[in-house]
Amino acid sequence: MNIVRDTTEGSLLLADLIGAAHRVVIFTGAGISTESGIPDFRGPSAVWKKMEPIYYDDFVASEDARLEDWRRRFHFNREVAAAEPNIAHRAIAKLVAGGKVTAVITQNIDGLHQRAGVPSEYLIEIHGNATRAACLECDEHHDLAEVEAEIGRTGRAPLCRTCGGLVKAAVISFGQAMPVRAMMRAEHAIQRSDLFVAVGSSLQVQPAASLPMAAKYSGSNLVIVNADPTPLDAIADHVLRGPIGKVFSAL
Ligand code: NAD
Repeated sequence: MNIVRDTTEGSLLLADLIGAAHRVVIFTGAGISTESGIPDFRGPSAVWKKMEPIYYDDFVASEDARLEDWRRRFHFNREVAAAEPNIAHRAIAKLVAGGKVTAVITQNIDGLHQRAGVPSEYLIEIHGNATRAACLECDEHHDLAEVEAEIGRTGRAPLCRTCGGLVKAAVISFGQAMPVRAMMRAEHAIQRSDLFVAVGSSLQVQPAASLPMAAKYSGSNLVIVNADPTPLDAIADHVLRGPIGKVFSAL
């Protein structure tokens, strides 16, 4: 393992590694969006230092939990609407356009990769997307603005207009099953990759954090870009510490 703390050196090394690779997979977490003004879960000013997560079973079982979940979603979506993709989102979109990057796998639910220009066929959102909502029973799409207006009007969490099921933001909550198709797409891209770059993830949330391990075991070079140490640093080929925007500046 090679730890690089100098961000200029890290930036040049990342550019060289990507330049020499043929099929790069980028894997992103909440840390890539903090420089756009969206707080992460486990960084220094993280969300979980202020509130407990709402588990999927609690959302299904409790009207209070659903209302609190919606309150947090609307707050998060206002932060997202005020945010812009940053230098790292844009650099990744450029690498996709240039044919270097075969997949962008993201744990993020903020839609900033799409807004930076990553086409949907290259983007794998393994934790969903907070800018959409759907029925848990029949998967019918529900408009978030309408959901918010309905909660304002009735004080109740909305039910599906088609089947009466619970409507939920289209994100994967703690304790909720992972999306099978997205995970299969991610595994397929990883198996064919020769470089896997994990960016801005504490690599603590499973099964997402197992993806860098899968990349390493299938023969890919593993690079971790993060301000803080992660549990997978020991198996990485290169660990680039420092602010993501600086580390991506040479790209
Ligand atoms: P995390 O919050 O657990 O970890 C983020 C990591 O990024 C931390 O180790 C932190 O030190 C690092 N970091 C933060 N800003 C950085 C910067 N500017 N430069 C370098 N490093 C920086 O994030 P995770 O591993 O993605 O956690 C998992 C969950 O958080 C995911 O399920 C994701 O859906 C959710 N989440 C997403 C968003 C979003 O969509 N923007 C925001 C908050 C949480």
